[in-house]
Amino acid sequence: MTFASIIPNLNAHFTHEPHWWPIHTPQRDYEVTIGMVLVQQTRWEVVEAAVLRLLAAGYTSFDALACGNPQVIGEICKPCAFYTRKGDALVRLASEVCAFESQMPGILALPRPEARATLLALPQIGRESADTILLYGGTVPLFVVDAYARRFLSRAGIYPNVNILTAPYDDVQRLVEADLALTDLHAARELHAMMVEICIHHCTANNPRCRQSGAARTFIDSRKCAAHCPPCLGCPVAKQCTFHNAIPLV
Ligand code: SF4
Repeated sequence: MTFASIIPNLNAHFTHEPHWWPIHTPQRDYEVTIGMVLVQQTRWEVVEAAVLRLLAAGYTSFDALACGNPQVIGEICKPCAFYTRKGDALVRLASEVCAFESQMPGILALPRPEARATLLALPQIGRESADTILLYGGTVPLFVVDAYARRFLSRAGIYPNVNILTAPYDDVQRLVEADLALTDLHAARELHAMMVEICIHHCTANNPRCRQSGAARTFIDSRKCAAHCPPCLGCPVAKQCTFHNAIPLV
């Protein structure tokens, strides 16, 4: 089985858009960035509510956030994990973004290696966050190697000669991007969404729902997630999945 051969199954199953960003504002780069800071160690439902509170409190741009009080912003972000630290990080991050000419659009317009290095130098931004910002806030068709993608690729057995769970981030990214020849932005965004969707609904951390209808999740934006996985008989790649096919039928 190749990765490319199962992408049509995923697309056919998880059809409804929008999958992730933009959510509540047209400022895709701003919303993705604060979401990626807040989501660390935190469920998306909690993050989405915190983003809405930040927007309602007037923190609708990097400029507004840079002028904010870290303690106040931290309280608004509560109960996100480490909300005090994240409040401080958001203000510092926004200040650093505002120091760039053209702010985040200017960073995202840089060549991919420079843009990524610039993002990685910002507070609370690691590889996964930087790549997600480049993909959704910018226009770089890349593959995000998050925990969902690692779990799915590993269980499905798509790259059997590589330990996808432990391989270095950049190695996995290079492997997948070379394999899929990712050049289409929409397809790359959809692919990341599919990795998240399949792991939320079917390929869950414990007790994957290979032969069951997908687990339901409820987000504030009713267009998201719960609507993406219709009642079904199981995971859309179960027939091809190494993990699933190793489970004895009972
Ligand atoms: S068949 Fe099961 S183990 Fe395989 S990808 Fe689907 S949910 Fe995960």
